[in-house]
Amino acid sequence: MSRDQGRADVVIVGGGVIGSAVAWRLAERGRSVVLLEQFGPGHRRGASHGSSRIYRQAYDGEFYTALAARALPLWRALEDDTGTSVLTLTGAVDHGLPGAFAAKARALAALGIPYELLEPERAGRRWPGIRFDTQVLHHPDAGRLHADRSVQALSRAAGKTGADIRHGVTVRGIRTTAAGVEVITDDDVVAGRHVVVAAGAWTRPVIDAARLDAVPELPRLRTTQEQPAHFAPVTDDDWPSFVHHPGAGLAAEGIYGLGSGDGIKIGEHGTGPVVDPETRDHRPDPAGVARLVDYATAWLPGVDPGSVTADTCLYTTTPDSNFVVDRIGDVTVAAGFSGHGFKFAPAIGELVADLVDGTVRAPEPFRFGTREAVAAR
Ligand SMILES: Cc1cc2nc3c(=O)[nH]c(=O)nc-3n(C[C@H](O)[C@H](O)[C@H](O)COP(=O)(O)OP(=O)(O)OC[C@H]3O[C@@H](n4cnc5c(N)ncnc54)[C@H](O)[C@@H]3O)c2cc1C
Repeated sequence: MSRDQGRADVVIVGGGVIGSAVAWRLAERGRSVVLLEQFGPGHRRGASHGSSRIYRQAYDGEFYTALAARALPLWRALEDDTGTSVLTLTGAVDHGLPGAFAAKARALAALGIPYELLEPERAGRRWPGIRFDTQVLHHPDAGRLHADRSVQALSRAAGKTGADIRHGVTVRGIRTTAAGVEVITDDDVVAGRHVVVAAGAWTRPVIDAARLDAVPELPRLRTTQEQPAHFAPVTDDDWPSFVHHPGAGLAAEGIYGLGSGDGIKIGEHGTGPVVDPETRDHRPDPAGVARLVDYATAWLPGVDPGSVTADTCLYTTTPDSNFVVDRIGDVTVAAGFSGHGFKFAPAIGELVADLVDGTVRAPEPFRFGTREAVAAR
């Protein structure tokens, strides 16, 4: 698509997994794209770094299950485009109280996605690294994404298709004009017809700094510092990605986990302290690490609990854990991914491209506006 006097069709603020996926899908459609990212490639200050994220389709309703299923062929297309492997299907298991995953099984069934229910003894023989005390929901079209490689591949695919990806550029303001938008950085003003704000934990400050005709009514975004930990596996067994729901034998918080190049990763979902992304300390809280060691000791016979290494990462969570992906005028926001957005990134990229093109309205769960505090998982 043409640029008139240097005006891009779309300027994207943020080069995490979401902004990069948006750049790829828009560039694929022939849109001229400029992506502005404040830090360097592969930085560890946001939400998208590291060696792994869970890819799974089992959600408590058809909406997210269908969105995850839509992302799968797009991840594969990215791999074809870039010659990079990003997604390994290992299957996923949910265990804990079966009531916690009945709705997930229903959503999978409704969409014709294969799954099975296994008794704990059978699951234990199949995945000896995990101890099961209840029935298990297994679906095979799930596994792990390599996070760093995914972001690099998205950025490379976008660049190959003509997107202009600029690192080390901080957006200080956005203003709307008769011709579209002007995105203000320290050294430049980047003109576009449309701006997409995919700024993760910095979304609120970016919107607050903008001088927009119509300001998006964002739900409250709560940023927390989370701390997954890795453990060395003690055997060569296969590891599915897993979610252990609280209840039955697990008295504490629910736990997610998966195999990765750095070992077996586990974490609590959204229990970290509220932080400012600019001033957080990046230091794992010892009490939280101790809880993960206790969990590994009790439930993961396939790891060495003494081998723990912990890292930190940001969640930006909405009151109902539903994402914010909506458009007002020439401004689209893709934020509030609430600790579960990575797997959907290319499907979110498609949705944002549709919003920018004006061919769809935002799905109801993703719209601007205040929200009730209800868990979406
Ligand atoms: C510990 C942990 C485990 C997770 N596990 C999973 C999982 O298993 N499965 C899953 O699907 N999801 C998971 N997630 C969630 C997933 O990683 C996030 O939803 C996703 O990475 C969010 O991406 P993002 O692009 O919105 O944010 P970010 O990656 O934070 O990207 C936002 C970018 O915007 C840039 N930016 C901000 N302000 C400006 C500015 N003014 N100018 C220029 N650039 C700017 C930032 O520097 C940043 O790079 C996990 C998250 C964490 C923290």
